[in-house]
Amino acid sequence: MQLTNRSKQVSNKEMTLAEKMYLPAVISGLGITIRHLFRKKVTIQYPEVKKYLGPIYRGHHVLKRDEQGRERCTACGLCAVACPAEAISMVAAERKKGEEKLYREEKYAAVYEINMLRCIFCGLCEEACPKQAVYLRHDRMVPVFQERDQVIYGKDRLVEKMDDRYVRAANSEVKATPTEPSLTRAAT
Ligand code: SF4
Ligand code: SF4
Repeated sequence: MQLTNRSKQVSNKEMTLAEKMYLPAVISGLGITIRHLFRKKVTIQYPEVKKYLGPIYRGHHVLKRDEQGRERCTACGLCAVACPAEAISMVAAERKKGEEKLYREEKYAAVYEINMLRCIFCGLCEEACPKQAVYLRHDRMVPVFQERDQVIYGKDRLVEKMDDRYVRAANSEVKATPTEPSLTRAAT
């Protein structure tokens, strides 16, 4: 009974001299190689060339500032509670007189740290935040660690720079969501 049509009749005929020298197999292999030389490359020269990660990629965290440059985070701790990997820790502090231009609310995160070794980039911190203060950038990866002491990201690496603000809709494929202040309403 024939189960598939891929079975081949084995031939016991004497090999020719060319077959004994593997010439047909070598020529066929060379043909495949030459054909691939002219095809479009599927690989890129990473890290010199970076691939577009996609509109819903969850990468490097960013702590947002509002339009006036004030930190949006109010150290409520909801992101830390939502984090399944327990990667977020923070120390809250009270805003002092004269610091109104630095922090939007009366309470702010004096320390805000994410352990990138624990983080699974699920995005739940972003979803939990009532102040639209934490986002996972779709356009930047967290770099590979060389040392263990590089895995804790503090505010120095998380708070966005005003000359390099993150706007998710910079990519037209990304739909703005009602929770994204920079896209739908003026920051308050
Ligand atoms: S992305 Fe997920 S695992 Fe990473 S810090 Fe946010 S909630 Fe935690
Ligand atoms: S990032 Fe958002 S959820 Fe986390 S502490 Fe700050 S305000 Fe609260």
